[in-house]
Amino acid sequence: PYASFALPYPIRVDCFTCTAHLPAPYNAPALHLLTHSHADHTLGLSSKSFAARVVCSPNTKEMLLRHESFLERAKKDAGEVATRTFAHLKVEGGAFSRDLLYAVPLNTPTEFELSSTETVTITLIDANHCPGAAMFLVEGPRGTILHTGDVRAEHWLLKSLTRNPFLQSYIPDTEEDLHVLIARGGQTASLTKTLNAIYLDTACMLRGTVVPTKENAVKGLVELIALFEKDTYFFINSWTWGYEDVLKGIARAFQCQIHVDRYKHAVYTHISDPFLRALVTRDATSTRFHACERFERCSFVDVPSFDFKNDLAPRSIEGKKVVYVNPVTMGCAQWEDYRMDVRRRLVMGKDVDRLLVPLERHSPLPELLNFVSLFRPLRVIPNTLVPALGGLDWTAMNVMFKECIAP
Ligand SMILES: [Zn+2]
Ligand SMILES: [Zn+2]
Repeated sequence: PYASFALPYPIRVDCFTCTAHLPAPYNAPALHLLTHSHADHTLGLSSKSFAARVVCSPNTKEMLLRHESFLERAKKDAGEVATRTFAHLKVEGGAFSRDLLYAVPLNTPTEFELSSTETVTITLIDANHCPGAAMFLVEGPRGTILHTGDVRAEHWLLKSLTRNPFLQSYIPDTEEDLHVLIARGGQTASLTKTLNAIYLDTACMLRGTVVPTKENAVKGLVELIALFEKDTYFFINSWTWGYEDVLKGIARAFQCQIHVDRYKHAVYTHISDPFLRALVTRDATSTRFHACERFERCSFVDVPSFDFKNDLAPRSIEGKKVVYVNPVTMGCAQWEDYRMDVRRRLVMGKDVDRLLVPLERHSPLPELLNFVSLFRPLRVIPNTLVPALGGLDWTAMNVMFKECIAP
């Protein structure tokens, strides 16, 4: 809603399309913010005519500048000249030299001038969604807003937010001890402040089930992998950024690297995550764990096409048994049943050629309720709406979050 503006400020988040048709001051956004590099958040940014400054995290900047579409990747792998999607955002040397991506490290309040009379302070905070993903805290004369971008607000993240000095002012008192309340007397809350609004990741808001933590999902997967013969190969379908915890969990548990394609390798070795950098390899022969390009798998995990509904996967080109690991959405109870079932089949000596892992990159409703309750803002605004629902989801949201906002 609001043409992606983080009202009351003329700041536009995760949308870079033309705004000339909007009334002033929204026809010319004072500032653009980018929460992370997923394609649904970079609309308009690949346009060569886009020429405004964009604030993002250092890792998002790195990922964006290295971004190649699938076609561009294929061209480059074939030795042809390929262009990078966002190359125009940073041009080095010559009269046209420019760098539109303004990287701000996490937890580092930074001032930005919106106009000659208005300055805001912006702080980026880890969003536990994918490498580089950040929430934006915007503080200024018109109040404070928190924009989550895409977020997986797991319990540990909420704990870390309560310890974040830049957010502590916005976490209200939840004291219930009678003696404390009496000792406080008639003092109303004046030291802590209230967020004017939280712009919330609503991608999974209509999902009411509790989903496994990333840690639990990865642990369960690793335990299942351990039950296979030691010469089994695994193809991990990490088809988009955000499944790195699966790669890390497997690498740590089996103490071996994971084969990735040229593009993933270039990105993972240039962002600030030493373990991720250490666990990827381009040597396909060195490991039985692979996360190479799914449409262009290496010969160790590339299996001839087969009827996956009725048949078991044939051996790969190199003659290896390959198990396909796919991230899915699954509730906690379902995950427990699934693990038991796979375990039983493996113990009985049945052939298993695929595994599921419930690694969720967005918070479902129960986690969102806890997240909003932590701050009790004045309002909660959806980052995205389902067009087909004609605003019903926003109406429902106001009801669902009624108990979580400021009284
Ligand atoms: Zn995303
Ligand atoms: Zn591979």
